[in-house]
Amino acid sequence: MAERLLIGALKGGKNTKIITLNGKKMTKMPSTLGKLPGLRTLNLQNNLIPKVCPEISTLTQLTVLNLGNNLFKEVPEEMKYLTSLKKLHLFGNRICRFAPGACDGLQNLILLNLNHNQLTQLPQEVNRLKSLTCLNVNCNQLTSIPRELFFLEDLSELHFNYNQLICIPEEIKLLKKLQKLLLARNNIEVLPEGICDLKKLRILDIAGNIIQIFPPGFQNLKLREFYCEENPLILKQPFIANQREDIWSLKEITSRFVMNQLAGQNPFLMHAIEQFPEVKNIISKGKNCAICGKFFLTIWLECVQFVPPSKNCKISKNLQLVPVRILLCSYKCFNQRQPNLFGISQE
Ligand SMILES: [Zn+2]
Repeated sequence: MAERLLIGALKGGKNTKIITLNGKKMTKMPSTLGKLPGLRTLNLQNNLIPKVCPEISTLTQLTVLNLGNNLFKEVPEEMKYLTSLKKLHLFGNRICRFAPGACDGLQNLILLNLNHNQLTQLPQEVNRLKSLTCLNVNCNQLTSIPRELFFLEDLSELHFNYNQLICIPEEIKLLKKLQKLLLARNNIEVLPEGICDLKKLRILDIAGNIIQIFPPGFQNLKLREFYCEENPLILKQPFIANQREDIWSLKEITSRFVMNQLAGQNPFLMHAIEQFPEVKNIISKGKNCAICGKFFLTIWLECVQFVPPSKNCKISKNLQLVPVRILLCSYKCFNQRQPNLFGISQE
């Protein structure tokens, strides 16, 4: 049946560039496709196809392949031959894995749509999709995102709604072109601080997670749309910081001294630090006090600041203030805080 349908679709002759056979109850791909090396677009949406035919490997001019709503169980290995492919739709299948090598030849792929499948993870090999700008993996069962994904520097849209993600790797800060990040209905407790480095980010959806507070610097993001309903956000003057004596360890005292001298470009220390990679590593974890601007390592006071969302931003209903995490170096600074800063008890 598949062959007959294809011949019917070939009225335009063998130079046909587009084939559309949607909703035909086909159970396999027509192998005659192998005789159409000039094909650019192939739509086989809403059929009953469980795998690709081997002849697909000859379609090296193909730029759009739509296999949405079929019966695929994996991203087929044969995809690696489709070296011109720009858009690949595999939504609405039963995909739970990528066949080994599937990503190998897809260096021109811009869009990968895997919505509504059964993926529990993405392979590290996604880092071979060098041109990828948009990845849709809504409604799967992902529990994590491989950090290799964040090496794809052209990514501008990530769609991960309705998964089981617990955290987002700090490497997300590498995605300098990211504009849209959709993480609604997951199990995320803490957003990475790296998210605040995403200068191009305009749309963020974290609705339906378990986030209480946003990372330091969050208020500097230039969001146009921000959705955060159904999170246990700290929304009212929360806990009272329990004031204790500041007792710093020798490591803390030394680290603070070194970090603050380096910030002041002390030439002796700047030279010396190159000889001590361990020290360099320790102070790379230093934090910056939101009040005095000085650096510190492990002892800090955690506060919350309630920041009004920017005026041009579409935002979840009923949200008037966004709680942002603020770190302070000492009680001395805490006692000089603005009235919109509240301490969070560390008990
Ligand atoms: Zn301070």
